[in-house]
Amino acid sequence: MNNLLQSFIQVTPESDFPIQNLPYGIFSHGADAAPRVGVALGEWVVDLAVLEANGFLEIKAGEYYFNQPTLNKFIETGKANWSKIRAELQDLLSSDNPILRDNQALRGQVFLKQADVVMHLPVHIPGYTDFYSSKEHATNVGCMFRDPKNALLPNWSELPVGYNGRASSVVVSGTDVVRPSGQIKFPDQERPVFSACRKLDFELETGFIIGQPNALGVPVAIENAWDHIFGMVLFNDWSARDLQQWEYVPLGPFNAKTFASSVSPWIVTLEALEPFKTNSPTQEPLPLAYLREDLSSNSYDIHLSAELQAANQDRADVISNTNFKYMYWSMAQQLTHHTIAGCNLQVGDLMGSGTISGPTPDSYGSMLEITWNNTKPLTLSNGEQRSFIQDGDTLIMKGYCQKDGLRIGFGEVTGKVLPAVEFNFSE
Ligand code: MN
Repeated sequence: MNNLLQSFIQVTPESDFPIQNLPYGIFSHGADAAPRVGVALGEWVVDLAVLEANGFLEIKAGEYYFNQPTLNKFIETGKANWSKIRAELQDLLSSDNPILRDNQALRGQVFLKQADVVMHLPVHIPGYTDFYSSKEHATNVGCMFRDPKNALLPNWSELPVGYNGRASSVVVSGTDVVRPSGQIKFPDQERPVFSACRKLDFELETGFIIGQPNALGVPVAIENAWDHIFGMVLFNDWSARDLQQWEYVPLGPFNAKTFASSVSPWIVTLEALEPFKTNSPTQEPLPLAYLREDLSSNSYDIHLSAELQAANQDRADVISNTNFKYMYWSMAQQLTHHTIAGCNLQVGDLMGSGTISGPTPDSYGSMLEITWNNTKPLTLSNGEQRSFIQDGDTLIMKGYCQKDGLRIGFGEVTGKVLPAVEFNFSE
């Protein structure tokens, strides 16, 4: 701990945001202030637009990258600049550097309490893709809905299965989620009914943000894939299980996944996560050559949790504890596979990991698995039972890495479920 870089801003050991993290987000302050770029430091937001206006953090003379409503313009400047700005910020914020530390007037403009700002979506997201890369999750779902002896379909261990999602309904943490309605088909009835979703679920995921585009028709080789990733977020891929079960054949999920997907406001860079690199699970069979990579350090040790807080609870119950390192397919493998047929990824694209479940029931990343499709209801600390998510429930996901006195966290992504829209149809 003693040899770790320290900031002149006090950061408690349990904070997700030490000077080694500096995740990027978009915030606004006050009624009419424009959204702009900040990094989190302890309980503060560091206003990069103010620093830039005062001559710091220059990328190109006369150009401004941080007085922007999204991070896209900064991300587009490339990986060398991501590193340069991170290094300049760490220097400027360190306890040894008097330039900002001893300039009280500037400090008053640069630091804002996180409690006093509004966070916005950190990037403009041109496209959103969701994968299905946790072997434990895919096995659980296969056991429930198909055959426990052949839970994984043959393609699953050959490629990172995914689908193209809906970017327009990705929302920032804190945004309420309206319960979706749609077609539900009951097994004992010939035709579906129209109803509010009765099996509303969360999916505990992470996402990564594309930082470097590739041209249409030009796939990204696996050895270059990591250079195309700007950073990671927490991600709740809300799902309507009953709508999904009826609609997904044969083209995959549609309305069951398009009503809302929630992201955490802070993007944690791969540089900040570097000390927490770890191995991926063994891949058997050995993937085809275009997907093959060294598995010894292509994942991250990120503790992840999900909490549920019912409307009348004043504290949330932890309902899952899992870890990113359980992921079978790496982010680089997902990215390379996404482009291998020629698809062009764009700066700001969001790639969901897929539900991340661990090996034990307390590490399952969805209500579907935790309650085993309503056969093992969950009892909350207030005595209420849950099979799926009810109106008024709030879902909270958290994530952090920790070792040797260093904690790099993601903060949280939350969302409260509101009742379905009321429809009046006449037959
Ligand atoms: Mn998902």
